Amino acid sequence: MGAFSVAAALAQSATPEGAPKADAASKGEVWAPVPPIVAVSPVVPPSDAIVLFSGDDLHEWASIKNPGMPAPWLVKDRTLVIQPKSGSIVTRQSFGDLQLHLEFRIPLMPDKAGQSRGNSGIFFMNLYELQILDSCDNPTYVNGQCGAFYKQSAPLVNPTRAPGEWQSYDVIWIRPRFSKNGELIAPARGTVLLNGVLVQNNFELWGPTLNRGRPAYKAHAAELPIALQDHNCPVAFRNIWVRRLE
Ligand code: MG
Repeated sequence: MGAFSVAAALAQSATPEGAPKADAASKGEVWAPVPPIVAVSPVVPPSDAIVLFSGDDLHEWASIKNPGMPAPWLVKDRTLVIQPKSGSIVTRQSFGDLQLHLEFRIPLMPDKAGQSRGNSGIFFMNLYELQILDSCDNPTYVNGQCGAFYKQSAPLVNPTRAPGEWQSYDVIWIRPRFSKNGELIAPARGTVLLNGVLVQNNFELWGPTLNRGRPAYKAHAAELPIALQDHNCPVAFRNIWVRRLE
């Protein structure tokens, strides 16, 4: 006998568990297809992500005010900073179902309150807003605070951090489905983690975000750009990436 080998012992003991047994199906075990392996790291996006902002440039973004023109926001210290009153920006690529990761930092704005303090937002498909706001000791309507699908769904809890601290959104976005005639088949749905905490659990949106009135769906393309909102607050962003789910 040679020296004891951990690898060999593991291989031997692992083999019976490494393949389906005859009764696998009757026990409800599913063995294929095996999900693809993707590399992960605390700071680097997964290997199959589309990086929308890594700190270098704004090539993936365009102006909304001046369609086709470069995004008018500032890249500073490897962050993307809103230039108030320059207008919202949109991705040059369009997306349907997706996973989004985005980090944001709200500036301290002690002279502002409510919706004027640290307001921005992520508009999925340039229509449906997930709110960004300073919601640390800053009362406002709850379906307009950070983590809300604006004017539709308040966050389940408030895990926001103080201004000046980096925060993160991780979102699973499922686009609405429309029939060929333009009728709604299935509403859009959003699952949202704010700073790693669930704040929207597969919420079914009522329709595109409106400031007033009841939203209503209107058929639109299966893929549309993501927009970031200019709401006159110099919110900063970093590490923005998406993974297509379709
Ligand atoms: Mg907003």
